Amino acid sequence: MTIALSQFEEVRLDRVSRDFGALNALRDVSLTIKRREFIALLGPSGCGKSTTLNCIAGLLPVTGGAIWLDNSRVDTLRPEERGFGMVFQNYALFPHLNVRQNIGFGLKMRGVPKAEIDRKVDEALGLVRLHGQENKLPGQLSGGQQQRVAIARAIVIEPPLVLMDEPLSNLDAKLRLEMRAEIRRIHNELGATTIYVTHDQDEALSLADRIVVLRDGVVRQVGTPKELYEEPAHLDVADFMGFRNKLRGRVVANESDRIILDVEGAKISGVAREGLSLGSAAYAAIRPDDLEVGEPGSNTLAVKVDTMEYRGREFVGTAHTAGGLDLVFRSHHAVEPGANIHLRAADERVLVFADAIRGRN
Ligand code: ATP
Repeated sequence: MTIALSQFEEVRLDRVSRDFGALNALRDVSLTIKRREFIALLGPSGCGKSTTLNCIAGLLPVTGGAIWLDNSRVDTLRPEERGFGMVFQNYALFPHLNVRQNIGFGLKMRGVPKAEIDRKVDEALGLVRLHGQENKLPGQLSGGQQQRVAIARAIVIEPPLVLMDEPLSNLDAKLRLEMRAEIRRIHNELGATTIYVTHDQDEALSLADRIVVLRDGVVRQVGTPKELYEEPAHLDVADFMGFRNKLRGRVVANESDRIILDVEGAKISGVAREGLSLGSAAYAAIRPDDLEVGEPGSNTLAVKVDTMEYRGREFVGTAHTAGGLDLVFRSHHAVEPGANIHLRAADERVLVFADAIRGRN
């Protein structure tokens, strides 16, 4: 293989901040990315994902902190001096250049001899499986093929880091799944180090070695997909990881491994994820998969069913409590809208968090 990505041990963000006037888009973001890692930056719209990526790429100056590639400070360098590969949502291909010329553009700008450009472009074409398409213009390619050209163009310059900003969001659902697998394959085959921005938790869970969850410009949690999925540290991270039911209540008992909340008069017991004192407001977070129709008893809520949707293997229902709390649950059987039922969650499947605002530091 002639494409050999530059070697380094780690990229470090050291208390990176970025302000836009009075807005703190990034606040003291610290993060170490090891060589060959696939890192996903995940969070809701406006949380600072693209700002982080653009600060790393050099498209935006930082307003505080520093970025290091091993022992070299890079945040003071121009984007082209950093030499990171970028892949954007809109591909950003040159419309008047064919596939081969688009991919080779960065090498040509660097004054690489033609024979070497041809060899590297050929290899990149093979890696993204675009042989046979090299003489077409971007306008003659499908969205997925254009995104492959953008990826080939990013990696052919042999960057230490590949930065991707929502690269799949312009593709339809089926192609998105296909390209997701392709991106991970290319990352593995090249031994690349990739930072990937997405707001799609499935994408982050399936692609990344580690996920960084951002909110309001602050890192909320860093961990492997399994850690984030099973042990979210805050309510907003849990929300992102599919805990759609958030039951607000008050702490009435705090035992060693279980905490009990009073939610509209019902006692809901779960696992505490944050320090909580007796009497404080808290949230019990439960995935729809873990909320099932059951008999009245412990850890149950009385609800009235609102809707019931058939989803092939199962039904997804919505319901509300007398106090107006909306819930989503799964069921193997259809339940009539309007029916009064009880929903139950096993206490080890219930995570209890501090009030969302307090949990935001
Ligand atoms: P999305 O998923 O919607 O792209 P994001 O997480 O990537 O969101 P950013 O684009 O990083 O979010 O924006 C973070 C915050 O900074 C937002 O509040 C945004 O409005 C603000 N912001 C970003 N770029 C600028 C700019 N050039 N001028 C002023 N404010 C900006």
